[in-house]
Amino acid sequence: MSSDKLPFRRVLLKVTGEAFCEKDKSGINFDSVKHLAQEIIDGSKLGVEIAVVVGGGNIFRGAVAHGSGMDRVQADNMGMLATMINGLALQDGIEQLGHETRMLTSIDIHQLAEPYVRRRAMRHLAKGRILILAGGTGNPYFTTDTTASLRAMELKADVILKATKVDGIFDADPIKNGSARKYQELKFMDVLGKNLKVMDAAAISLCMENKVPIIVFNLTVPGNIIRVLQGEKIGTIVRGS
Ligand code: UDP
Repeated sequence: MSSDKLPFRRVLLKVTGEAFCEKDKSGINFDSVKHLAQEIIDGSKLGVEIAVVVGGGNIFRGAVAHGSGMDRVQADNMGMLATMINGLALQDGIEQLGHETRMLTSIDIHQLAEPYVRRRAMRHLAKGRILILAGGTGNPYFTTDTTASLRAMELKADVILKATKVDGIFDADPIKNGSARKYQELKFMDVLGKNLKVMDAAAISLCMENKVPIIVFNLTVPGNIIRVLQGEKIGTIVRGS
């Protein structure tokens, strides 16, 4: 399919830290990173501009550490650093497979990555480089889901692709409940009203106000990024008010 027939020109891919490790484990698993890198490259080769916001939950979550007594700001700073470790791993994975990337961070770490500057980010995307956005928003008390919404608005992405390990949004946890039903489509208000665990409420509200749809899909299935980018109806789409 030629790139002018594709439904999206520029996408914001949100990859949770869990995609970097094996199920129920933590840290970084190199096969998982390789899979992720290959999928993203395949998507980019279609001619779609891809910005990836990386999470850090496989390494550190501020709220969890705060629950164990850490100062919240200190803990969130560690969480944001965790996203940078994942960002560097993904950059390595993509570059090992021969594709150009740039990593931009919201917290300056000059020796390792460029600072996040919107215009620079746009330019990298226009040149076909896969953009890796790490460091979250650069502020404690936020999540990388909110970062994904914010950057999607700023970079004028057509859609947020929220990569998960299940096939979309369900009315119950599909891992614990075999009869859970998958939603094909949802309105933002339904997600907020039913308190569905898609992205946090701040991220959903931002997308709703700015009319950026979210597609929740399973990134562990090979070829799924290409399917989504070609407009195949997999996963669950959240849109409308
Ligand atoms: N974080 C933060 N501000 C941000 C984004 C992330 O403080 O703008 C911290 C927070 O502690 C969070 C951690 O970074 O728990 C990892 O991010 P997140 O939990 O969103 O990762 P994911 O669940 O996507 O793996």
